Amino acid sequence: MEYAAAKSSICRQCGHYFSPFAPKPELKLHAKEEAPALENSSILHRFEDFWKRQRSSIIECFECNRKQQVCGAATSTICPACSAHIDLRDYKITGGFSRTIRTRGDVHLTAKGDLSSSGVICRSALIEGRLRGNLHCDDTATINFSGKIPGSLSARHVIVKRKADIHCFRRVRVGTIEIKGKMSGEIIAQTMVAVHKKGSLEGDVTAKAITVEKGGMFSGLLVIGQANLAQGELLPEQKPVAESMPEADISGAAPQRVPAT
Ligand SMILES: [Zn+2]
Ligand SMILES: [Zn+2]
Repeated sequence: MEYAAAKSSICRQCGHYFSPFAPKPELKLHAKEEAPALENSSILHRFEDFWKRQRSSIIECFECNRKQQVCGAATSTICPACSAHIDLRDYKITGGFSRTIRTRGDVHLTAKGDLSSSGVICRSALIEGRLRGNLHCDDTATINFSGKIPGSLSARHVIVKRKADIHCFRRVRVGTIEIKGKMSGEIIAQTMVAVHKKGSLEGDVTAKAITVEKGGMFSGLLVIGQANLAQGELLPEQKPVAESMPEADISGAAPQRVPAT
């Protein structure tokens, strides 16, 4: 192939870098991606947005934060501003793994995985195995694991799954968090903490709002509306769903839907 010798190549359609070694069935559809929009009917528009998200995404340079759009199939790219290499790969960890991960892709730590890297930065993560170091997700961290989480955990959104039972040793910093299983630990949320029915949370919470569905449990100190916003890497703007809620009445609070994210 014409790209075979190159380490990464530039897409002819849109000028993005991509690795020629990645499987790319999507390339056949590439022309559609950049096709001029037909009409501004909102359904079509929404469909196109969705379509685009499947094919490409906006990522930020780890060094200089310059944003760029990359093809969904790319495994790495180069920052156009500072020339730093940016990993875009997804990692699936099924055994011991100790290297540092810094990717704009996703991480899947399977039940048999043992991730001892001191630091992991990724887009979204699914944690089903042992996590020993720190984890930051630009997007969502889904936790389906029972045991101790000794490192720091931060993410725009965290989901603690129904069967999870975690004990977080260090502060958990989130935009929003949904607790469907059991969790103990301190949470600093920029906006919302939601404890679903059958969920339980033990630990202090700082958030703009908290909801505890009927059947859910929360015990700990609650500070409303003073989320310490020193956390630059979390998304800054999300409207709080509820301004505040009296501390006393939490467990009887009516269930409230968490805004879909
Ligand atoms: Zn492209
Ligand atoms: Zn850069």
